Amino acid sequence: MKKKYRNIGVLAHVDAGKTTITENILFISGSTRKLGNVDQGTAITDNMEMEKQRGISIKAAPVAFQWKENNINLIDTPGHADFISEVERSLQIVNGAILVVSAVEGVQSNTYLLWQALKAAKMPAIIVINKVDRAGSDYRRVIDQLMSELKINTVPLNVVENEGLSDAHLSDCWNPLSFEYTELQLLALEALAGNDDHFMEEYFDGKNFSKAEVFSQLKKQTANAQIVPVMATVAKKNLGTEELLDFICELLPVSMPVLSNSDLSAMVFKVEHDPVAGRLAHVRIFNGQVASRDVVENHSQQKEMKVASIKKKFTNKYIDIPAIECGDIGILAGMPEIRPGDILGNPDGIPVRQILQAPVLTIQIHPQNMADYGRLGEALEIMDAEDPNLNFQWFKDDREMHLTLTGTIRMEILGAELEERYGISTTFDEPTVIYKETPLSIAEGYVEYTMPKPCWAVMTFRVEPAERGSGLSYNSVMGVNKIHRKYQNEVERTVPKALEQGIQGWAVTDLKITLVGGEDHEIHSRPGDFILATSMGIMRALKNAGTRLLEPLYNFYIVAPEEYLGNIASDITAMRGTINTPSFEEDIVKVSGLVPVATSHQYGIRLSSTTKGKGILRFEFAGYQACPEGEGQSREYKGVSPLDESKWILHHRGAYKADDRKIY
Ligand code: GDP
Repeated sequence: MKKKYRNIGVLAHVDAGKTTITENILFISGSTRKLGNVDQGTAITDNMEMEKQRGISIKAAPVAFQWKENNINLIDTPGHADFISEVERSLQIVNGAILVVSAVEGVQSNTYLLWQALKAAKMPAIIVINKVDRAGSDYRRVIDQLMSELKINTVPLNVVENEGLSDAHLSDCWNPLSFEYTELQLLALEALAGNDDHFMEEYFDGKNFSKAEVFSQLKKQTANAQIVPVMATVAKKNLGTEELLDFICELLPVSMPVLSNSDLSAMVFKVEHDPVAGRLAHVRIFNGQVASRDVVENHSQQKEMKVASIKKKFTNKYIDIPAIECGDIGILAGMPEIRPGDILGNPDGIPVRQILQAPVLTIQIHPQNMADYGRLGEALEIMDAEDPNLNFQWFKDDREMHLTLTGTIRMEILGAELEERYGISTTFDEPTVIYKETPLSIAEGYVEYTMPKPCWAVMTFRVEPAERGSGLSYNSVMGVNKIHRKYQNEVERTVPKALEQGIQGWAVTDLKITLVGGEDHEIHSRPGDFILATSMGIMRALKNAGTRLLEPLYNFYIVAPEEYLGNIASDITAMRGTINTPSFEEDIVKVSGLVPVATSHQYGIRLSSTTKGKGILRFEFAGYQACPEGEGQSREYKGVSPLDESKWILHHRGAYKADDRKIY
């Protein structure tokens, strides 16, 4: 690898000062001549009008710059929990992260979620405690919170003087380092000693460490994600930015090739739609390189794709470049079908995405003006390509448009984005929880698709309930002399598609499906016949088995003054929730447990009024469980149901005959 690259993600709870810090970095590194300002709406990384207006960053906007000969790509990530999947995707492609926390508000619910994401990815990180000039700031208390609540081993890098005052300033807490260690130095040395036996021995032998010795240990442990260096900043006054840049270069690792050969290995972590250039795919190159006009294998879609041109974003300018080197990130243009998460080339060595939050709500969207109906569908198709979590489904026969969401803020932002980018005003129905269904018993479904000729596919599927959380497992016990391998391959490929809607209208999961009978016909059978018949056979089996609804749940964590415990407990019970034994600290109570999403997704507002704004609530997605009898909602099958057999055959026959590989 010729040059060294550091890809650094910036994460924060909304309002902690992430955008201000990013702007400072770009200014100090000489990338911008004028300092952008979030309060005046001139921040470089806030691209969209609504980000500027609302002061929240939604879309990750990677920017490249240099700092003292180091090449850095800064990836700004959205600060709200509803966009956590974008954060998860960014964490797959960075070498290190900056987590910004406010010195006044401290660890907030989203900080917790972001830290879980960093921890799951074993990401080297630096925590920035910002706004130490504001009244109520308490650097030391936030460090304690990080250690006690998030269980982070921290090493402070600086100290604050005149904290909480407008003339607050920062100084290095490792200079001087004399034998009379300060309290913060002791804290740090003990944290480092806890992870390294040799260092521990030296510490207990009373060694007088030099700053270089401490930093070499710190660098090693930071890279291994055993320790997190912490520093204070006053972003508003640009204090601490230069030091932060130096620490990034000193303590966070650089990109290294992941394979021993020069094969291309890359991942698309973000897709943007440009009105002129079309789809722009932001990629990180893990191995090899990609050049303009290369034909690359899209491993995720099993297709070859041609790169028309390559760009890189330097502050607010896109510059054409001939190639992206190993370790770097850049933008590929000219691939209209590319999607976020796609892997190009060899997938070995690409980190696995850690999923913390799944979409749990579904919603119908309508144009305010019916004349916009077609344009709205097209706009949503583009936005779905940018955010696959939207799972946009356009049921043209019913004139319905459905989306899935992680929370209601996502819905608000989506409405604003449609207005701003496309000038389309929309309305939303009340969101519904995304239920799933699972078979109640073991049953078989027989399908004989032999008419009208020419066609021939005969199959029997057996469905069985499986363990909660296990998803789908498919197996065939049919010999290839009964059903040819090429047809069996099509069946296997179609089964997940056939389970997208079950007999109660929801995706079917936690089941075992076995192909237990059937035959092909030497002359009449086509692959398309088996694709078409698979859905019919499986739906019949599900109908015979019956299904029960599964509902999504949240783990909840509440911190509130003790006097509200009674109210909180009765709220949770009313929501069909369960509560673990509460714990008490002075006059504060901590309560955790499990609640259905259906009853609790608006609970934040209620808790706030119950506790007069003093209660803090955090939710974590906790998977699916059986829905109690009488709860949950079935929904109508969208489109033509495979149980409506003649209509199903008529509807799909043409399409399957024209293109045997096309599904639906
Ligand atoms: P983001 O939502 O995390 O991107 O936060 P912003 O950078 O948009 O900052 C949120 C608000 O905090 C803005 O009004 C900033 O001017 C203000 N702010 C940022 N850093 C500081 C700081 O160090 N001190 C003070 N007093 N205010 C700050």
